[in-house]
Amino acid sequence: MNTLQILGLIALPILIWLYWLERRRHRRTTERMGRALQDMSGRLTVDAHTGLLTLAGFEARLAEEVQRVGRTDGSLSILSLSLDNFTLITNGFDSIGAAQIVQSVATRLSEAAGPEARVATLSGSDYLVITSGGGRIGSLLAERIQKAFAQPVPAGASGRSAPVSCSIGVAVYPQHGNQAEIASLAGLALRKAQEAGPGHWRLYEPAMGQQARDEAVLVQDLRQAVAEGQLELYFQPKIDARSLQVTAAESLVRWHHPTRGFVSPGVFIPLAERYGLIGDIGDWVIQAACEAAAQWAEIGLRMRVAVNISGHQMRQTDLVEKIVATLRLHQLEPGRFTCEITETVAMEDTAATRLTFEKMGRAGLHVSIDDFGTGYSSLASLRQLPAAELKIDRAFVTELETSEKARNIARSVIELARSLKLRVVAEGVETPGQRDILAGLGYNDLQGFLFCMPVNAAEIQRMATGGGGPAGRVGFRDSLYATDFQGELAGRATEPGALRG
Ligand code: C2E
Ligand code: MG
Ligand code: MG
Repeated sequence: MNTLQILGLIALPILIWLYWLERRRHRRTTERMGRALQDMSGRLTVDAHTGLLTLAGFEARLAEEVQRVGRTDGSLSILSLSLDNFTLITNGFDSIGAAQIVQSVATRLSEAAGPEARVATLSGSDYLVITSGGGRIGSLLAERIQKAFAQPVPAGASGRSAPVSCSIGVAVYPQHGNQAEIASLAGLALRKAQEAGPGHWRLYEPAMGQQARDEAVLVQDLRQAVAEGQLELYFQPKIDARSLQVTAAESLVRWHHPTRGFVSPGVFIPLAERYGLIGDIGDWVIQAACEAAAQWAEIGLRMRVAVNISGHQMRQTDLVEKIVATLRLHQLEPGRFTCEITETVAMEDTAATRLTFEKMGRAGLHVSIDDFGTGYSSLASLRQLPAAELKIDRAFVTELETSEKARNIARSVIELARSLKLRVVAEGVETPGQRDILAGLGYNDLQGFLFCMPVNAAEIQRMATGGGGPAGRVGFRDSLYATDFQGELAGRATEPGALRG
């Protein structure tokens, strides 16, 4: 072999290696070009305000990561993240403060995610995070992010800060699903985390997918139930804590599913909210409650009826007009209609809910803040509402006999109500012990299985006329049979211990 041949033999692998390097460089350049073209196609990949990825940026990154996972046989985790009660938190700030909080959240998230992960913003309160690695890595990242929010986030140069917590769902590609569905599976896990309350995270489980499918079937059935008038309205009496007589009744919607049996409103009302059915259900409840009150009036029972109003209804611009028109149709005074609005919804304080509250006040409707103690009310915000009543949440009532903390909460709710001149109601009273504690603390009205289960309108009528049902145990306040209901209301307000009502 001559020198030339030897040199050729040495040079050949080098040439092959150089050729392979050039091919790799070319492939990467083409890939980058592809990405750049995608950017130039008009889809913004980076959010100018926060520097986080946009949804388009997230999708591009996901596609890239999916290819990498295909080559390496690895996995990647998607985190779907939502800030808890974010509108409530930003409501305390002006628009500049709120924008600064969003910016601080973005920074905190990026730092917690670290260089291995990328964060995308979907809105001020919803985010997606993508990281390589399976469920363990994704779960650790979820924990790290939640810990990062243990300290409040700064609201710009104002020196103020805001307490922020987040809920997170984690799903893993390819174990849990394909590229197209993985983010929505993380969203399903997020919904499950949110059901456990603020500040939780959950790893996706296949059962969650089955639950989502069951939910879709239930929604379809609910749609049919609404259309076919399968819903029924029940009423649970509110009892005066001193005389133990009925003073009013709260309406509670009931759905007897043809095959599943009783489905709790705690299950189907949130579904109705999410799938746009609450408008029809809410309208029907208002109408049915007024019809029942008018029927009772025919037997001389002039009793106030309460209706639970959902967040969606509070945002309807014509809600109060609809209630007032229905009351007029049945010749009922507005003061005989209580709107029960949960504390969380009441504190949303958006322009729409503020307007509805104002209109409720002007129309003379009776407003009650339901499930009180579970939300974030402040004295100042409560004072602005046209509320006449606070209803302490059942959870505190349940623990009254066993927990000093629950008794303290029950006591502070009554002090708060007194300072605002509001009536106080306790729901979920099941034992004589709870009844005695609440009556001793000065609660005005009590409600619970101890006195009466929710019953239909005819049963209320039978009870009021002294026949059937648990009438032996529950009597009705004499003044409810008075012909002058406004006089009755005025009379109550001047009773010793009676508050605004
Ligand atoms: P809520 O308004 O706080 O109603 C009180 C719930 O506690 C009712 O459950 C009632 O049946 C139950 N309850 C009453 N006394 C007791 C007791 O002594 N012990 C126990 N363990 N429970 C008691 P329900 O009827 O299942 O309703 C659950 C929630 O669904 C309601 O909570 C309300 O938020 C919502 N809801 C019910 N009906 C309607 C409606 O017509 N419209 C809207 N938007 N929401 C409704
Ligand atoms: Mg209620
Ligand atoms: Mg309640």
